[in-house]
Amino acid sequence: MSNPFENAMMQLKRATAVQPFPEAFMKQISTPNREVRISIPVMMDNGTLEVFEGYRVEHNNARGPYKGGIRYHHNTDINEVKALAFWMALKCAVANIPMGGGKGGITVDPKILSKNELEKLSRGWARGMADILGPKKDVPAPDVNTTPEIMAWMNDEFMTISGEKTLATFTGKPLDKGGSEGRGAATGLGGFYVFDVLREKFNVAPGASVVIQGFGNVGGNAGEIFVANGYKVIAMSDSKGGIVKDDGLDIKALEEWKKTNGTLAGFPGSRIVTNAELLELPCDVLIPAALENQITADNADKIKAKFILELANGPITPEADEILYKKNIPVVPDILANSGGVTVSTFEWEQNLKGEHWSEMDVNAKLKELLNREALAIYEKSVAVKTDLRRAAFIVALERIASAMGY
Ligand code: NAD
Repeated sequence: MSNPFENAMMQLKRATAVQPFPEAFMKQISTPNREVRISIPVMMDNGTLEVFEGYRVEHNNARGPYKGGIRYHHNTDINEVKALAFWMALKCAVANIPMGGGKGGITVDPKILSKNELEKLSRGWARGMADILGPKKDVPAPDVNTTPEIMAWMNDEFMTISGEKTLATFTGKPLDKGGSEGRGAATGLGGFYVFDVLREKFNVAPGASVVIQGFGNVGGNAGEIFVANGYKVIAMSDSKGGIVKDDGLDIKALEEWKKTNGTLAGFPGSRIVTNAELLELPCDVLIPAALENQITADNADKIKAKFILELANGPITPEADEILYKKNIPVVPDILANSGGVTVSTFEWEQNLKGEHWSEMDVNAKLKELLNREALAIYEKSVAVKTDLRRAAFIVALERIASAMGY
């Protein structure tokens, strides 16, 4: 398995080969400002004590407080969190929101924890990191396997430890605990807005066929939004595997099916595919919405999609990027395509700081306006410097960060 931070640095090298930046800036932007590792002891329900490893990486805060989610996964390690923190710094710059980049995580399979153990673990992470967090310092949010409820536990723990009565330290909270309207679906919806403004540039017709890898917050919401806008989602998958239905899936019915049966397999009218096969299905639009390193040098040549929208972070390795570029398959990069999540998280932070509550219509309208503008800016940059959207997005982000750092 390739190291995500090394991949991120390779992406940086590819982009800055197209447009170079000052050497001193390159040294700074290649290194996180701070890496924190903590031990989190949790008394388990069976009376034994387990110690979990937690992380927070603060990559760069030239444009504002560090911002980025917290991931719970058995494969999460410091290199993954470092890569994700770096991408967050670029993503916030691409979205042009006043935030820097950070990311957190715990090496754990949360599915084997009871709710009581999960709460203790989450409060433990917030307690261990309290010194470096705060609305003007570092503002975490949910990521893979973390939920609004977990954000509410963490914010509560932070308030107890710091004595600071503020809701603005964590975003992605439940609505009744200071959350924002629209945050749940923001990453999927933002992805659709970006797709909708760019698809014409790449001749993707309305109503095209869509394949989605991942059926969590991002993949599930994206599926519903694409279907609601007239697209045909022909395949979806989760960590156990995928299903295909050539005449299109009813995503709400599939959600119900998974709730009842615990798996996508057996959904009426569908056939089973592996996750590897799903990525290689013929389709107009492929949306990786699960984890990193899914399209690599091993399978990039077999991809038959005409257009890729990266809603997961880091699903395509740099080697695969090169292959897809040569095959003329446009890729809308993660730092643009999935920036709707951090954008509405930032709206939540702003509402908490001002004591306001915006309507869902207002939130979505602001999101659309901002992403339309920034997606077009990245497209125009890609045309101006004759490169792909990922390298163009990196260049725009680096220009903005460098300017904030006085370069
Ligand atoms: P989630 O935990 O809600 O869902 C993850 C989904 O991926 C689940 O359906 C899981 O079964 C599936 N999955 C895991 N391993 C898989 C595999 N090998 N093959 C296929 N499916 C697999 O997480 P999420 O919040 O939806 O995040 C998904 C991706 O989007 C991550 O890369 C995350 O960093 C990124 N992202 C999330 C947000 C957000 O707002 N939640 C914002 C930006 C980016």
